Amino acid sequence: MRTTTGWQADGPTAPLRRTPLRRRDLRPDDLAVRVDYCGVCHTDLHAVRDHDGAADRALVPGHEFTGVVTEAGSAVTRFSAGDPVAVGNIVDSCGACPMCRAGQENFCHSFPTLTYGGADRHDGSTTLGAYSREYVVREGFAHPLPAGLDPAAAAPLLCAGVTVWEPLHSLGVGPGTRVAVAGLGGLGHLAVKFAVALGADTSVISRSPGKADDARRLGAQGLVVSTDPEQMAAARDRFDVVIDTISAPHDPGPYLRLVAMDGTLSLVGHLGTVTVETLDLLVGRKKLSSAGSGGRPATAAMLDFCAEHGVTADIELLPSARVNEALDRLGRNDVRYRFVLDLSDLD
Ligand SMILES: [Zn+2]
Ligand SMILES: [Zn+2]
Repeated sequence: MRTTTGWQADGPTAPLRRTPLRRRDLRPDDLAVRVDYCGVCHTDLHAVRDHDGAADRALVPGHEFTGVVTEAGSAVTRFSAGDPVAVGNIVDSCGACPMCRAGQENFCHSFPTLTYGGADRHDGSTTLGAYSREYVVREGFAHPLPAGLDPAAAAPLLCAGVTVWEPLHSLGVGPGTRVAVAGLGGLGHLAVKFAVALGADTSVISRSPGKADDARRLGAQGLVVSTDPEQMAAARDRFDVVIDTISAPHDPGPYLRLVAMDGTLSLVGHLGTVTVETLDLLVGRKKLSSAGSGGRPATAAMLDFCAEHGVTADIELLPSARVNEALDRLGRNDVRYRFVLDLSDLD
């Protein structure tokens, strides 16, 4: 076994603590990656809050990271030591089911292996995430980090980014598409940047009129204030695509009413049970959709697009020793727009 250092959660209220971790010895198709930067995702916060503290189910969060290959297994062909790489929230899948064959490993019928809290497909061990200085990953689930992308600001692309990239891309968003993004957090601000870079006519939907400057700075043309009934009524049937990134439970009805005929509302922020009034779908033949994470081809395409268009996340970079502060502030939505941990303080 290899050893490294990381930040482990010991229960829903205990602060994460710095601790030595074990990584598997490299299999022939594995890479050892020095983790330089890891984004702090809402999923990490939920995982920590849901953790029961059981020692045999250690939780080390972190599933959107960039770093540098330090060692490559004997059968690795695409990478060698020194290559910059990026890894998201999936580190393995069955490779044989229809979803995997279609390049949608995120929908693998036997469930993909998650970057943390997953079960390794060979030895059954629980995967430990990238709030740590080293990660060992199958080469097929690592992506070359394109030159020109800042590795800290690129880390959130690997979860937040691809989660909004896939719906925008699969819905054919491009020049002339009228897109609205509800919620301006980690996912939302990247959805705005992508939609703008794709050439769409892009608006933000927010509870707060104070987001107007932020929306414009991100490239959006307009802001619809969701707490203003007149603005919401005026925006009825206006958007071909609405990407709803709001992370708290809420009624999708008001957002469906902003969707144009035959358009789509994609719910990617809060996942769970929602109640839908079918009349909100019937009137205008509207579609309700969702998406999460991304397959390997889409992730690679997104990274190429980001390099070409200079898209990265707006981040607050913190030394990893401040991870508990980052999680606390994320829980209060006090971040613009994504925390990224610098893991170099674990050396
Ligand atoms: Zn995530
Ligand atoms: Zn599969």
